[in-house]
Amino acid sequence: MISEITQTGRIVQIRAKTLDVNAYIILFPDYLIIIDSLLLPSDSQKLADLAESYHKPVKYQINTHFHSDHCLGNRYLKQRETTQINQQDYWNTIISERAMINPKRSKRIDHKRLTKPEITFCDEYLLDDLVLLSTPGHSPDSICIYLPAEKALISGDTILNNTAGKYSLPYFFWGNSQNLIDSLEKLLTLDIDTIYSGHGYPLRGKTKIYSDLTYLKNLCTEVDKQRSQQLTSTQLAEKISIISCLNSPLEPAVPQVHELNIRQLKSEH
Ligand SMILES: [Zn+2]
Repeated sequence: MISEITQTGRIVQIRAKTLDVNAYIILFPDYLIIIDSLLLPSDSQKLADLAESYHKPVKYQINTHFHSDHCLGNRYLKQRETTQINQQDYWNTIISERAMINPKRSKRIDHKRLTKPEITFCDEYLLDDLVLLSTPGHSPDSICIYLPAEKALISGDTILNNTAGKYSLPYFFWGNSQNLIDSLEKLLTLDIDTIYSGHGYPLRGKTKIYSDLTYLKNLCTEVDKQRSQQLTSTQLAEKISIISCLNSPLEPAVPQVHELNIRQLKSEH
């Protein structure tokens, strides 16, 4: 079910109830760009219906990364005239993580369900007045879309805001901690008024980027300090509390993410 559709200037945010995941439509005078495509077929179809109501072609379909809640609905949105754009690691990441996308662990990718990009890019790609930026960390293929005219950043899961009134910890279980730190530091150099996250409500300013960086850097330091102890991820998660890493008065939205991050950190060394 679609829970909310909000338009701010030319940015239309479509929020699905499932996982509170967002898709975005960017309105141009003669065409549309769609960013992400939701998870449930019925939600993706509603997104396609909404796009159709503008009576303009979907010229570009962009995915912020390979996780299914962000790309599984592509097949409902991609028209003959639509060009799909992804970071260059998108397809390889899908292949290497296919066990997650297909629980039956089939070796074959279902091309009817997953659509392949026509354009891929490495670091940066200019599309009209939008800037597509490679921001690995949450996943190897994660990107953000920057709209300089609006000082807006569509962040995918590079910056999370899942639950209103709670803190969404940065999540790098499918990616890499240092890559995420580097990506967030790169984003700090941009002039940003609003962050449109892959989940939940928009965030004002860059405060969330600073606090995510504090959490990540503290977590890396603390796990490093304990490295000689040979502790399990669960033991480490008990020893290194979220509060000791996070400088925020908000309660964590999904505390389990902390242990998954620790598990990933242990495997990085
Ligand atoms: Zn994700």
